[in-house]
Amino acid sequence: MAKYNTSVKGTADVLPSDSYKWQFVEKKMLETAGLFGFQEIRVPVFEYTEVFTKNVGETTDVVQKEMYTFVDKGDRSITLRPEFTAGVVRSVIEHGLINGALPVKACYVGGCYRYEKPQAGRMREFHQFGAEMFGAADPSADAEMILLAHSVLKNLGIKNLSLEINSIGCPECRAKYHAALKEYFSSKASELCETCRERLDRNPMRILDCKSPVCGEIADGAPVMIDYLCDECGAHFEGVKKHLDTVGLNFRVNPRIVRGLDYYTKTVFEFISGDIGAQSTVCGGGRYDGLVGQMGGPQMPSLGFAMGIERLLMVMASQGTSFPEPKAPDIYIATMGDIARLKATKLCTDLREEGFCAITDVAGRSLKAQMKYADKIGAKFSIVIGEDEIINDSCVLKNMASGDQTEVKLSSGLTKALYDGMILSMAEKVLQEN
Ligand code: ATP
Ligand code: MG
Repeated sequence: MAKYNTSVKGTADVLPSDSYKWQFVEKKMLETAGLFGFQEIRVPVFEYTEVFTKNVGETTDVVQKEMYTFVDKGDRSITLRPEFTAGVVRSVIEHGLINGALPVKACYVGGCYRYEKPQAGRMREFHQFGAEMFGAADPSADAEMILLAHSVLKNLGIKNLSLEINSIGCPECRAKYHAALKEYFSSKASELCETCRERLDRNPMRILDCKSPVCGEIADGAPVMIDYLCDECGAHFEGVKKHLDTVGLNFRVNPRIVRGLDYYTKTVFEFISGDIGAQSTVCGGGRYDGLVGQMGGPQMPSLGFAMGIERLLMVMASQGTSFPEPKAPDIYIATMGDIARLKATKLCTDLREEGFCAITDVAGRSLKAQMKYADKIGAKFSIVIGEDEIINDSCVLKNMASGDQTEVKLSSGLTKALYDGMILSMAEKVLQEN
């Protein structure tokens, strides 16, 4: 297939007939985050490559295999964001937000880019909603992030998700765990995949996250981090669990969850759906107490999560979740002749100022073709105007669904009739619902 008329592998278009679903989901996400005191942050789609290599972690799949990196015309190494956290951390440090009122709460929506093998639920351009909180050490902050993610998913009408949590400790207790893991995996090194054999020395915990079934089976027998938590990390984890219990949010402790990125400490969590096959994690997050310091800021306990919007839409499709239908055009103004066309432009302008969706012919089509189009786009009302209607200041307003016709004044009657029609249909809806 020719390259000039196909989209790039692993990318997808959202067509006008489908975009209302995305708008609904994104609006709900930002609204829900607002209830928790989070405001939107918008960071660039690309950053200096070091922002990601240094902070996502050199031994992660994302950095080792998945980044879209290129040299720009000014000889800079640039990378399309594979995730938001590193860029958001860069931004809040650069603009001094973390020197103001703490905690800083920021959320985001946008595209991410990873060179992965495209398949159901795995794209090269995909979209995330996420939230980050900076300057909050208490276990209640971990619970609040989990509750925010949970509220978003609930407000979207998504059902049957399970919450899995784990603690991967702090650098101190993790060092002991790494040693134990290394010993365990070294004894099985010959069976591990090539990438995992390389990870053995540098970051044995990554092996727990490997997607290869053989490595997965070996990982099932590995020592678990919670057995190695220091007193502080253990108490923190207990605190998080207590908060979740208090609000009655069910969860399962899963010692296999380590998350794919290097910066996590203490709490990590995932929301998993049983409805979309292998790519079942719709949301992942956790605490990253070392990241702000590592990026040149002060030592600052912080945490966040991200959810994949494509995967959420897949779950919603499989569960038959309903979306509020987009608004149909209120009126279609069909025209006969050039003068009517001028008049229609003026009428549409006035109606749009009143907040109505008004459509008229801009393709120069016959009356018959215009009415066919009005039908196709689902206009609620229509009128036909020619010179007679303009001279007599009168037209016939047709209710497209019922066929009912009423005579109204062109100059002043349309707005009122549309308002009345709107009130009528609202009343009918209320009656139907009761
Ligand atoms: P996975 O284990 O599925 O590869 P991950 O650990 O790489 O996920 P994160 O980096 O934590 O994922 O990203 C958060 C969320 O973004 C994931 O839970 C998922 O919903 C979504 N996501 C990640 N990669 C992709 C992708 N390539 N295509 C679509 N969605 C994705
Ligand atoms: Mg991944």
